[in-house]
Amino acid sequence: MQKFDVVIIGGGVIGSSTAYFLSANPDFSGSIAVVEKDPTYAEAATPRSAGGIRLQFSTAENVLISAFGAAFIKAADEHLSVGNERAGVEFREQGYLFLATGAGLKTLLNNQRLQHELGAATQLLSTQELSNAFPWLNTLDLAGGSFGPVNEGWTDPYSLLQAFKRKARAQGVTYLNDTVVGLGCGGQHVNEVLLASGESLHCGTAINAAGTNGRTIAAMAGIDLPVHSRKRYVYVFDCRDEIENVPLTVDPTGVWFRPEGTQFITGVSPEEQDDPDSDDFELDYHLFEEIIWPTLANRVPSFEAIKLVRAWAGHYDYNVFDQNVIVGRAPGYDNLLLANGFSGHGLQQSPAIGRALSELVTFGQYRSLDLRRFGYDRLLTGAALKEINVV
Ligand SMILES: Cc1cc2nc3c(=O)[nH]c(=O)nc-3n(C[C@H](O)[C@H](O)[C@H](O)COP(=O)(O)OP(=O)(O)OC[C@H]3O[C@@H](n4cnc5c(N)ncnc54)[C@H](O)[C@@H]3O)c2cc1C
Repeated sequence: MQKFDVVIIGGGVIGSSTAYFLSANPDFSGSIAVVEKDPTYAEAATPRSAGGIRLQFSTAENVLISAFGAAFIKAADEHLSVGNERAGVEFREQGYLFLATGAGLKTLLNNQRLQHELGAATQLLSTQELSNAFPWLNTLDLAGGSFGPVNEGWTDPYSLLQAFKRKARAQGVTYLNDTVVGLGCGGQHVNEVLLASGESLHCGTAINAAGTNGRTIAAMAGIDLPVHSRKRYVYVFDCRDEIENVPLTVDPTGVWFRPEGTQFITGVSPEEQDDPDSDDFELDYHLFEEIIWPTLANRVPSFEAIKLVRAWAGHYDYNVFDQNVIVGRAPGYDNLLLANGFSGHGLQQSPAIGRALSELVTFGQYRSLDLRRFGYDRLLTGAALKEINVV
């Protein structure tokens, strides 16, 4: 049986960030293994992500988590280069723009106040200011918007994942291509991680970073996680007109769009009652034709004549309890940590969550950012910490 001080289950952006931060931590000198069942990441969430980073959240921790994420990604070369090989992670700081009708304006105002208190540069814009800043936008049915010009934009998810992984490996982390099929538990302790190959890994600490499979892994330790696999679509389209200075824009209907090279990508999250659990990758073109395109055409007149080029589907590890991550010690265990239920925010949260987990393992507590409110305990007390800005 091989022995590792830390075994991370899942080598997506969360598992790989955790492996990087732990192996970079000067106070940690143990051995680390990441078990990843598919090193091509064909079905994982990370490469299917839109890569958006924003500080415009309604939960204080999420604002601070993304602020660290943005700063980290901007300095990716400093942190993640290996020898002469640059990290190759770009940050397009083109901003996020949330639009509101009269009904949504108060929420934007409340969120902006919180974000300001936490150091974010979010600006509230009147319809006139919106028209001046973004002349391609139809503001007739709007009451205003909030724009985050600093530390908001997008990055390439796959590059970030690969950069974390490359650096973690260079710092001594072992990646194993295998599938976790069980946890050998005794009392409050996970003793071993059982693999499909028949091997088992003796572990000091086990970390569940298995994305949409996190619920299954938790169940291996008898823990119930309210994390479900929910399908989301991303559509790529061409626009004949050239429009410039387009942030990631979120329409009051929830339809979002942003530039992607010379094209655009777009999507929308469904209503809760229309969001079944799903693990297939089947595409829904009706959603684009009937909901998204008309919304785009209303919001941006130049989008009346667009051409759908392609689309893909991916899955959120969706926390049905309150749409916020569940991170920290698993209930009833002294050496099992959770990082599950990112609900569509995990890419931007990966640096801060990796750092937080490395602190929990090394010091037994958070040092940089107190994430205790995101612990499993809130599920036991029923005290939901609802994030209302879910895109
Ligand atoms: C369409 C879409 C758009 C998104 N847009 C954004 C965005 O704009 N901004 C943002 O911040 N986030 C976004 N997200 C969310 C973000 O992609 C995820 O939160 C993040 O990638 C989660 O990373 P992860 O490492 O937890 O999961 P994953 O990337 O899914 O990695 C989990 C890994 O665990 C492995 N695994 C699972 N079970 C086992 C097992 N039993 N044994 C071994 N390995 C196992 C899997 O193979 C997988 O590689 C989006 C997601 C989707 C689907």
